[in-house]
Amino acid sequence: MDFSLTTEERQIRDTVRSFVEREVMPLEPEVLRNEREGRPALDADVLRDLRAKARKSGFWGINTPEEYGGAALGPIMSAIIAMELGRTFVPFSFGGSADNILYAGTDEQKRRYLIPTIEGERRSCFAITEPGAGSDARNIRARAVRDGAEWIINGEKTFITGGNEADFVMVFAVAEPYGVTCFLVDRDMGWRSEPIPTMGQWGPASLVFEDVRVPEENILGEPGRGFELAMEWIGQGRYMIPARAIGSAERMLQMAVDYAKIRQSMGRAIAEYQAIQWMIADSQVEIEAAKWLTLYAAWRVREGLEARHASSIAKLNGAVMANQVVDRVLQIHGGMGYTKELPIERWYRELRLLRIFEGTDEIQRRTIARNLIKGHARLGLIGE
Ligand SMILES: Cc1cc2nc3c(=O)[nH]c(=O)nc-3n(C[C@H](O)[C@H](O)[C@H](O)COP(=O)(O)OP(=O)(O)OC[C@H]3O[C@@H](n4cnc5c(N)ncnc54)[C@H](O)[C@@H]3O)c2cc1C
Repeated sequence: MDFSLTTEERQIRDTVRSFVEREVMPLEPEVLRNEREGRPALDADVLRDLRAKARKSGFWGINTPEEYGGAALGPIMSAIIAMELGRTFVPFSFGGSADNILYAGTDEQKRRYLIPTIEGERRSCFAITEPGAGSDARNIRARAVRDGAEWIINGEKTFITGGNEADFVMVFAVAEPYGVTCFLVDRDMGWRSEPIPTMGQWGPASLVFEDVRVPEENILGEPGRGFELAMEWIGQGRYMIPARAIGSAERMLQMAVDYAKIRQSMGRAIAEYQAIQWMIADSQVEIEAAKWLTLYAAWRVREGLEARHASSIAKLNGAVMANQVVDRVLQIHGGMGYTKELPIERWYRELRLLRIFEGTDEIQRRTIARNLIKGHARLGLIGE
C-alpha cells in the first residue's frame, strides 16, 4: 500500500499552495469587507484576473479531459488541489471546468453548452430541488409536455446554486410519458430567478418556469433517464466537498494552535490546559480520518470502481468533522472567535451548509445503511 505522491504530484500541490498563499489569501480582507457591505465576495474582474493568472501558471481545467484543453489531473489530484484551495475562505476555484453530465451531450450540445462553459463564456446551474422535493428528489413535480417539436416546461425550483448568475440551466422535469428528463434551457427561453438570502456566502436562487418552450434537441441524454443523470452529477464529485473542508479545517486548527500558545489565562498560556489540548488533538485526529476517507473515495473513482458508498462515507464524515473542528476553534478563541474581526464565524456559517447540500447527513447515513443491509456494500474489505 503506497500513500506517497509522485514527485510531479508533490510539485503540483506545492505550486498550488504557494499560488493560494501569494495570490488568493491576500484577498481575504477584501472578501470580508465586501460581504459586510452586502456586495459579492469578489468583484467579477478580480475573479477574472485571478483565473487568468492561474491559467498562466497552468492551473486550468484541473479535471477536464485533454481533448477539451484541460489538465486531466484526475480525481486524487483534484481532491488534493481542493484541499489547498480550502485553506482560504476566498470563494475561488480554477477555471476551465464544466458539469460532468454536459459531456453526455450531443456534438451540437457540446458546442453550445459544454465548450463555452469550459472556456468561462457561459455559466450553468443544476436544478432538481423543488419546494416540495429536496431529499425526496424522485418526487419532483415540474412538468414538461410535448407540443410538436418543442416541450413546454412548468414548475418551480429552489436553492439553485448559481441560479442568479447562470445563463442556462440543466433542469429536471417529468416529461410524459417518459418520466424525469433533463433539459438544457437558456435563460432567454423565459425562466426567471430570484435570490434566496442565506446565512453563508452561498446565494442560491429560486427558478420559475411558466410555459417555457424548449426545443426537442435540448434534451440532455435520453428522455426518462434524467434521474440517473442527476445522480451522476451529484455522485461524481461528492468527495470534493470534504476535500475542500479538510483544507479549511487544517488552516483553522493552525490558527487555534497559534492562538493557544499566546493567549494567557490564570497565569499560563491556554495551550497548557488539557481542556484545550484535547480539543486540538481530537480535531487533528478527525481531520486525518477525513483526509484518508476522502482520498480513498477519489481513488475508487480514479480506478473506475463503485465509488458511491465510499463517497457517502467521506461526505458524511467530512461534513461533520468540519463543523466540529470550526466549533472547537471558535471555542479556543473565546469571545474573539465570535467576533467578525476574525474569519472563524464566517467559516462557521459557511461550513454548516456541508451537512445539508448534495445529500444531508441523514440521507448519507440512509444510503450507507441501506447499502450494507441490501448487500450492495460489504464490511471487511480493503482496497477492493
Ligand atoms: C445553499 C444551498 C445550495 C444548494 N444548491 C442546490 C443546487 O445547485 N441544485 C439543487 O438541485 N439543489 C440544491 N440545494 C438543495 C439541497 O440539495 C437540499 O436542500 C437538500 O437535498 C435537502 O433537501 P430539503 O432542503 O428539501 O430538506 P428535506 O428533504 O425537507 O429534509 C428536511 C430534514 O429531514 C431529513 N430527511 C428527509 N428525508 C429523510 C429520510 N428519508 N430519512 C431521514 N431523514 C430524512 C433531512 O435530512 C433534513 O434533516 C442547495 C441547498 C442549499 C441550502
